[in-house]
Amino acid sequence: MSLLWMFLITFCILQMSVFATTIYLHRSQTHRGLELHPVIANLMHLHLLLFTGIIPREWVAVHRKHHHFSDKEGDPHSPHVLGLWTVLFGNFFLYRKETHDARTINKYTPDYKPDLVDKLGKLQSYGVLGGLAVFMLMFGWAWGFAAWGFHVVAYILLNSMINSLCHWIGYRNYENMATNLQMVALLTAGEGLHNNHHEYPTSARFALKRGEIDLAWPVIRLLESFGLAKVDRVPIAKAA
Ligand SMILES: [Zn+2]
Ligand SMILES: [Zn+2]
Repeated sequence: MSLLWMFLITFCILQMSVFATTIYLHRSQTHRGLELHPVIANLMHLHLLLFTGIIPREWVAVHRKHHHFSDKEGDPHSPHVLGLWTVLFGNFFLYRKETHDARTINKYTPDYKPDLVDKLGKLQSYGVLGGLAVFMLMFGWAWGFAAWGFHVVAYILLNSMINSLCHWIGYRNYENMATNLQMVALLTAGEGLHNNHHEYPTSARFALKRGEIDLAWPVIRLLESFGLAKVDRVPIAKAA
C-alpha cells in the first residue's frame, strides 16, 4: 500500500474518532442535546475505546466539570487559570489527572448508564492495543505502529486546541470566555465553534451564525433521517 493511501485511511479513522467524540461523547452523552440509537452509540463507543482508549463516563464527568467552573478555579483545563501552553501541550495529562479523582466522576455523572461496551469492564484498559492491532493488520507492524502513533498524537492535539486556543483566540458571538475558531472547527467536526457551544451547551447544533460550518450537524441530521438519532435541543431562535 502506498504512503498516500496509508495517510488517507489514517486521516479517515482520525475523523471518525473526531465525529464520535463530538456526536456521541459531547453532544449526546454529556449535554443530552440528542439521543442516539443504541447501535450507533455502541459503535461510536467501541471506536473510541479502540482508537483513543477514552472511557465515556470519565470524559463526560471531566467535561461537565469544565462547564461548571468554566475558566475559574476548579476548571480542569482552563488556559486562563493554568496558562495557554500548559493546556495546549499538557491537556492530556490534565485530563488523566482529573479522571483519577473519583469525586469528580461520582459528582458529575450520577445519571450515567453503562452500555454494552462498558460491560467489558477491566478489558477496556486494553482497548488501545486493539486499535494498534487494527493499524498493524492494515499497514504492517512498522507503518501500522507509525500510523497509530500519528493518530494518537493528532487526536490529543486536536482536543488540546479546543480546550486551549478556543478559550483564548478567535471571535465571540456571545459574552462568555470561549471563542470560535472556524479552522479548528473544520478539523474537529464543529467543536471549534466553542463560544457558541458555551452559550448553548445543550444544543445539538454548534453553527449558529451565517457562514459558520459544523460538519457534525449534517451527519446528525442524516442519522435522524434514518431514525438513528433524535435531536432534543437546538437554540430556540434557530429552531423555527
Ligand atoms: Zn470550553
Ligand atoms: Zn460541552
